[in-house]
Amino acid sequence: MTQDHIVLSPYEMPDRWYNILPDLPRPLPPPMDPKSGPSRMEMLPQVFSGKVLEHEMCTDRYVKIPKEVRELYIQAGRPRPLIRARRLEKKLNTPAKMYYKAEFYSPTGSHKVNTAIPQAYFAKQQGLERMTTETGAGQWGTALAYACSLVGIDITVYWVRAASSWKLGRRNFMQMYGAEVYDSPSDRTEIGQRLLQEDPNHEGSLGIAISEALEDAVSDEKAVYSLGSVLNHVLLHQTIIGLETKKQFEIAEDHPDIVISCLGGGSNFGGLAIPFAGDMINNGNDTKFIAAQSEAAPNLNGTYEYDFGDYAEQTPLLKMYTLGHQCVMPSIKADGLRYHGAAPIISALRNEGLVDTIIYPRDEEYVFKRAEMFVQREGFLPAPESAYSIAAAIDEARGCRDRNEEKTIVFNVSGHGFMDMDGYRDILGLGQSNSSAST
Ligand SMILES: *Cc1c(COP(=O)(O)O)cnc(C)c1O
Repeated sequence: MTQDHIVLSPYEMPDRWYNILPDLPRPLPPPMDPKSGPSRMEMLPQVFSGKVLEHEMCTDRYVKIPKEVRELYIQAGRPRPLIRARRLEKKLNTPAKMYYKAEFYSPTGSHKVNTAIPQAYFAKQQGLERMTTETGAGQWGTALAYACSLVGIDITVYWVRAASSWKLGRRNFMQMYGAEVYDSPSDRTEIGQRLLQEDPNHEGSLGIAISEALEDAVSDEKAVYSLGSVLNHVLLHQTIIGLETKKQFEIAEDHPDIVISCLGGGSNFGGLAIPFAGDMINNGNDTKFIAAQSEAAPNLNGTYEYDFGDYAEQTPLLKMYTLGHQCVMPSIKADGLRYHGAAPIISALRNEGLVDTIIYPRDEEYVFKRAEMFVQREGFLPAPESAYSIAAAIDEARGCRDRNEEKTIVFNVSGHGFMDMDGYRDILGLGQSNSSAST
């Protein structure tokens, strides 16, 4: 019998996160204040919990995962399986070996619980009473609402109107966890009021929702803000994905030549890739890293420069590959991939030539067809964002077939798509009943 699911027991779950900062070829350019206006750096302690700031600046190679957080990870179903995609390999007739990490087993539907849990836990530890955040596709808001309900702390979510207006199920899911959810721009903040005055039906953007959540947190000393991607501490927490995967490859007696995931802000890509990238830097083995992106937001092909993280310029400047913080990006079904900048850590790795990208067309048909192939062969319904990771893995495996190369590919399936069927229906033209199904 072949063993295609490589599982770890809770006892085998890594007990520390990996921090790549000390292993980067060059020091990471630090966050900075802009030349004019109030200091954003001085605002940070008001906005983030102490532990989160400590993790953001940390230069230790390993950071211990508190026992309580480990227990919550186990509650959330960690460790997660690494699965050999044997049926997909067969369909593609490729000599490549394909493995995928099953982050779709998350209770809320995405890898984002990996940082939501420690962030909520640290806020509660510090005696805070409420967290504020933004969400785009809705996955981050749900993950943080879940984590807040587990640790017993309130949460306010500002949700980009372009997505909130048609995703009623996600809103209700967050509400079931006890979250207060507002469409963004909202009338609860100054920036929101200003934008609504200009346009009462303003569609919003992630950058605007971040501005609202920040403004809310700054004005309440018992509240703290939380971000679900981009920053160093988020990527640190997400390394649990790659650390588990490394152990699973030891069990499989294999090692990946190609590491793939989709990239919006960089947290699931970084989570999987960073432990392997650290190995490559320290041991010189030859691994290829590929970030799959949408033509709607190809931030890794932007310019490497200091830019704000939000629309209203309330955050410090971060050195990152960016399309510009007020860039208007067309809406896509994989809305979680639509952010103007890539995480500073991933940007630094890209600047060293260690991260490649593949950009898929914005109509999403190419990508979703490959998700369909994955569904038919492997049986799991991916999130629309994860479909990009799958498409890139399939394209690499086909390349291996054409060149007759026996490479090992690992890709992350960052979430499930059970709440995203409307998106698949639109793009794939799925019918209401068999008689009306498109051909
Ligand atoms: C948010 C999200 C992404 C994109 O964000 P990253 O920080 O780049 O990982 C990808 N997949 C899923 C399922 C998401 O929810």
